[in-house]
Amino acid sequence: MTAQPVVLFVAALAAVPGPLSAQEPGGPISIYAARVLNGRGGVMKNATVIVDGGRILRVEPRRVERPTFEFPGGTLLPGLIDAHVHIGAYVNRQGRMHASGDGDTPAEAALSAAANLDRTLAAGFTTVASIGESDDRDIRDWVDHGGLPGPRILTSFDPISDARLSADEIRAEVRKRIEAGANLIKLFASKSIREGGTQTMTEDQLRAACDEARAHGVPAIVHAHSAESMRAASLAGCHQIEHGVFATQAVLDLMAKQGTYFDPQCALVFRNYLDNRKRFQGIGNFTDEGFASMERAIPLATAVIRNAIATPGLKLAYGTDAVAGAHGRNAEDMVCRVRQAGQKPMDALVAATSVNARALGIDKETGSIEPGLAADLIVMQGNPLDDIAAVGRVVFVMRGGRVFRHDPTLAGNRALR
Ligand SMILES: [Zn+2]
Repeated sequence: MTAQPVVLFVAALAAVPGPLSAQEPGGPISIYAARVLNGRGGVMKNATVIVDGGRILRVEPRRVERPTFEFPGGTLLPGLIDAHVHIGAYVNRQGRMHASGDGDTPAEAALSAAANLDRTLAAGFTTVASIGESDDRDIRDWVDHGGLPGPRILTSFDPISDARLSADEIRAEVRKRIEAGANLIKLFASKSIREGGTQTMTEDQLRAACDEARAHGVPAIVHAHSAESMRAASLAGCHQIEHGVFATQAVLDLMAKQGTYFDPQCALVFRNYLDNRKRFQGIGNFTDEGFASMERAIPLATAVIRNAIATPGLKLAYGTDAVAGAHGRNAEDMVCRVRQAGQKPMDALVAATSVNARALGIDKETGSIEPGLAADLIVMQGNPLDDIAAVGRVVFVMRGGRVFRHDPTLAGNRALR
């Protein structure tokens, strides 16, 4: 499909105040690293990326004279992308997951979202898809135009989950979101994993939604756990399926044939709930039974990812479903994918960069190191191809040519300014 969500969100932002005076752009910036991964599987040793005006100008296959930043012990790669977060979800002052009606003030919610943005960007994630909350619109717009530091955000606003809606009503719901500036459409084809994950919307309902989204060039992303719900979403031509804890090999093969992107979670979302149970217990479907379901899901999820990796032609995205308490830990699923599910480190990194960019329709803007793309660049200490845990040692984060993190004190790295 030819998705153009970037164009849509630029059009939707007129009401957000911009800076009072534009910053003068400086001259070119050069970043040297021991190795550069281009996000599409390529590796260059001892290379320098040159950035100008917020864009990647070129890559030099050597250490240039007096680079602006240098990382002789580091690996430079495109900013990471998390295809599934809930950027506004937070743990409140009382140590509980924020839920509507709990008395938290709008300021607490907004400041918590800002803290989530900071943690996410500092972890090397320069783009996130935040799927499932109408407040994400303001968060996205204030990052884009209102001066709030954070990753680029694509959002679906509220999900469409009411299985009682007719096909026409579903199409209208999709149009309403797109007209309001949604970059993505989020659908629920199954129940939550805490409620068994069985199918809710029919294939016809999903087809109505996914056809309408495609007609507007917007990716439709479907929450589905049971094999039946995944099958329906794939046959309905939906763009991407999330979760898939109960995926069978037959449904993975079908998705590969249909070209459906698959975004399963390895560990973070489950561990965050299970290891911090008192923050969630008793809220909504976070019951004893719900926690037991999540405990059982962990080995199933690992097995599904292992099977997905081995399925020829299946397009495997990278999304963590980062929720309250998990922001900034977005790289942990890469470690899980490599160590628990057997994915090659390079493939996990490519999933979190160029594959995700294509899945979200933003590959002409970010997701690889290529002249003309946004200067979304990060450096991690060490070599993630040898030790995937390097994804947790991000020492430099640039988004659109602006440096948001630089830790020159970490071993072997030095900055000249
Ligand atoms: Zn989610």
